[in-house]
Amino acid sequence: MPSMLDAVVVGAGPNGLTAAVELARRGFSVALFEAKGTVGGGARTEELTLPGFRHDPCSAAHPLAVSSPAFRGLPLERHGLQWLHPELPMAHPFPDGTAAVLSRSVGETAASFGPRDAGAYRRLVTPFLHRWDTLVRDFMSLPLTALPRDPVTLARFGLVGLPPSTWLARRFRDERARTLFAGLVAHVMAPLNGFATSAIGLVFALAAHTRGWPVARGGSQAISDALAAHLRELGGTVHTDYEVKRLDDLPPARAYVFDTSPTALARIAGFGDHYARYRYGPGVFKIDYALDGPVPWTAPEARRAGTVQIGADSAEIGAALRAASRENRAPDAPFLITVQPSVVDPTRAPDGKHVFWVYGHVPHGWNGDLTDAIERQLERFAPGFRDRVLARATAGPPELAARNANYIGGDIATGAVSGLQTLLRPKLSLFPYTTPHPAVFICSQATPPGPGVHGMPGHNAAKAVWRRLRQT
Ligand SMILES: Cc1cc2nc3c(=O)[nH]c(=O)nc-3n(C[C@H](O)[C@H](O)[C@H](O)COP(=O)(O)OP(=O)(O)OC[C@H]3O[C@@H](n4cnc5c(N)ncnc54)[C@H](O)[C@@H]3O)c2cc1C
Repeated sequence: MPSMLDAVVVGAGPNGLTAAVELARRGFSVALFEAKGTVGGGARTEELTLPGFRHDPCSAAHPLAVSSPAFRGLPLERHGLQWLHPELPMAHPFPDGTAAVLSRSVGETAASFGPRDAGAYRRLVTPFLHRWDTLVRDFMSLPLTALPRDPVTLARFGLVGLPPSTWLARRFRDERARTLFAGLVAHVMAPLNGFATSAIGLVFALAAHTRGWPVARGGSQAISDALAAHLRELGGTVHTDYEVKRLDDLPPARAYVFDTSPTALARIAGFGDHYARYRYGPGVFKIDYALDGPVPWTAPEARRAGTVQIGADSAEIGAALRAASRENRAPDAPFLITVQPSVVDPTRAPDGKHVFWVYGHVPHGWNGDLTDAIERQLERFAPGFRDRVLARATAGPPELAARNANYIGGDIATGAVSGLQTLLRPKLSLFPYTTPHPAVFICSQATPPGPGVHGMPGHNAAKAVWRRLRQT
């Protein structure tokens, strides 16, 4: 290691890895320090249950990663990343045995909403479909890290996306489309009537039609391993099992970039109450299953989908979100996001067997057991599910927080996605990646454009860092 590095990155989640790669590819010397024994943070894969069953304890479905301008600019395929696309990106089954779907085809999706809403859906998505790559770059680069390439489409997207998703739902006359959209918003644990929640639903829908909702072959660890391999190829170094508690724990560098929570950064760098107003959101309860066969969904569409949302209607989904985020209690009928990677990736489980991934929302810091409520929900849409279970690994907020210090109280978004904090995080600032110390930066999902495996906070933060490095 040189006596003075250009940049030190703390935390090897998707954003820390991306920030490190972006700096290394611009010729800066970079070292990365990670608290855990392997890189990956929220994008990793482990044999959590039985030998031969490879589970993703955190992210599994990757609509944002495959669309990400940061990842698309990197040679991740050369380092082993392979996206596998299920026949349907997503299905949302209903209690009557039918399902609405997000298909690669707009026509199939619209038809699944029923004749009264098919036209409204086409009118909603069509203006953005052919501009997706530019649009995604524009809104994921905000604020102020790049001028929009297509300001007109971005403004139009803002008009549709900034209002609450409950407004978007009014475009639809029937419950099928409303329910599917409510479920999409719930992916980031946002309240359905929250600011900019229409944009969340719309982004997931557009991603399905344009670049899909794939899983990574072999598991999400492949994303992190590809980023780390590229970093090493560029001369960067990676140090695992190294928890940073104080700035003095780190080697001398011209810049320090933190893929941590704002709270941890304030503690490590001595920023006092600089981020005291930053709020954390509800937690999740996660179960990874080893199954004896595929999930016995009643709706045939759900058997073909990579991701399956579970919530009988938009009211049930709204009630589940309210219980976890406002009423401080576990929902009776939790809204579930489930992913079944082995419908498309045979490397994840022994022949004929499957891995199955599911989580529901619970209050911040909740330490109960949601297993029974989750399995009761699954049995409504897949009778006989319990008979297929060979083994399960559960993790509530305390276990998630122990696994990754960024998941404070089990909040997998490292900060509530509500109010202005949806877009302006971790502070109301035009320069969210900078901190009170001119050499210290933050790049985690607590910065724009927020949660998900896409590396854009890391990419944007790296720009702020290299601008500073070139000035000094
Ligand atoms: C159950 C679950 C399901 C999810 N599902 C999806 C999904 O399907 N699709 C999707 O796109 N996203 C999903 N996510 C969210 C996704 O994992 C996160 O958005 C993403 O990982 C955030 O990346 P990050 O780099 O900001 O932080 P993280 O991935 O959290 O990485 C932070 C890293 O920093 C390290 N660290 C923290 N403090 C220190 C310290 N003091 N010293 C050294 N190292 C430190 C941590 O150990 C960790 O490795 C899910 C998350 C969870 C938990």
